[in-house]
Amino acid sequence: MFKPRLKMLGVEPVGNYAIRISWSDGHSTGIYSYDHLRRICPCEECRAANEEGQE
Ligand SMILES: [Zn+2]
Repeated sequence: MFKPRLKMLGVEPVGNYAIRISWSDGHSTGIYSYDHLRRICPCEECRAANEEGQE
């Protein structure tokens, strides 16, 4: 179960709803909406916000 460590090479905004992240492996350039980032962020603030949104 080895996973190579990815490095973020750069982050740029996409409109005002998302960011594009360039990864060091070169083939996975992802666009992540702020909404999605909130959902996957484990910090207290985002978890609280997520729970509010689901109720
Ligand atoms: Zn957070």
